[in-house]
Amino acid sequence: MRALVLSSEDKRVSASVEELSDSDLAEGELLLEIEASGFNYKDGMAIKGLGALVREYPHVPGIDLAGKVVECVDGSFSAGDRVIVTGFRIGEWHWGGFAEYARIPKSSYAVGMPEGFSARSAMACGTAAMTAMQAIARLQEVGVTRDKGQILVTGASGGVGSFAIMFLAREGYDVVASSGGDNTDYLKGLGAREVISRAEFSEPLDPRKPLEKTRWAGVIDSVGGAPLARVLAQTQAQGAVASIGLTAGVELSGTVLPFLLRGVSILGVDSAMYPIEKRKPLWDKIASIFTDADYAAIAHEHGLDELPSLAEQILVGKIRGRAVIDPKK
Ligand code: NDP
Repeated sequence: MRALVLSSEDKRVSASVEELSDSDLAEGELLLEIEASGFNYKDGMAIKGLGALVREYPHVPGIDLAGKVVECVDGSFSAGDRVIVTGFRIGEWHWGGFAEYARIPKSSYAVGMPEGFSARSAMACGTAAMTAMQAIARLQEVGVTRDKGQILVTGASGGVGSFAIMFLAREGYDVVASSGGDNTDYLKGLGAREVISRAEFSEPLDPRKPLEKTRWAGVIDSVGGAPLARVLAQTQAQGAVASIGLTAGVELSGTVLPFLLRGVSILGVDSAMYPIEKRKPLWDKIASIFTDADYAAIAHEHGLDELPSLAEQILVGKIRGRAVIDPKK
């Protein structure tokens, strides 16, 4: 089987496409023939050796994969069943989806493919769509419904941002997208009513103005850093900010005043360890929303050889929408 293999020498990580045998795969309950895998920011970090995501080398990255069951030792799936696997440290602690085959430690990490959904569509969605769905669910849990006002999505042209806009707009929310690039047509095509510049939030919060004029009923923030402090200061009373990412930085500086004087909530989202029993209904919902036309608008397909270059691009915010990987290419 072909696989993208990461090796580490003197703490320098290199990536190359190699021929492996399925006997190279670690033990596990589920052997899958991969039909497609998805490409995420975390994969870019793993390929470039950033963030200490990978425990041991050599390593095959790829946190999202979809394919056909070849063998399932506990009988929870039959040969030929089609499944999706995202998260659970696949592609980080365990070998992942940038290969023709994968062995998954536990069969309970897999979700049956929704009826009529393709592996490519599932991977165009992947962790990004799951994360967006979870962030929306978290906002709704604290009362950020569509009647409450505008929702801001930061990092809008990225994978999670694109899905957040699409799903919010289809649920009738009034969505504002914040983007660093010239992405207005793309973001309006996804359903954003307005597109504003990332630069509006890039200056750190002014300590003399810990609360700014309120603008947002809710925020889905995939960038962290200074913009996260700014949007917290702009969220209206009883509003909420779902924090999902860190492309602008990991720090969170600011004051507690939005929480104390406006009752604002900050909501964390960790899609990797999201409980398996809650995933199937979300996948069914994603499959009912995501159409072939959406795939055409959002997805671009690549082979294993292109992954090192995709990694360079995603880390500098140069990938729009979703890269789908065909391991046979
Ligand atoms: P993408 O790279 O696809 O999107 C990130 C977007 O952030 C870019 O497209 C760009 O959008 C914006 N951006 C990039 N660099 C900067 C910067 N320096 N300052 C401000 N904005 C920037 O990544 P994903 O959508 O896949 O993931 C987004 C984040 O969410 C990542 O940090 C990822 O690790 C995290 N994540 C977290 C998950 C969780 O469970 N919590 C699950 C999945 C992802 P634009 O040009 O439009 O501004």
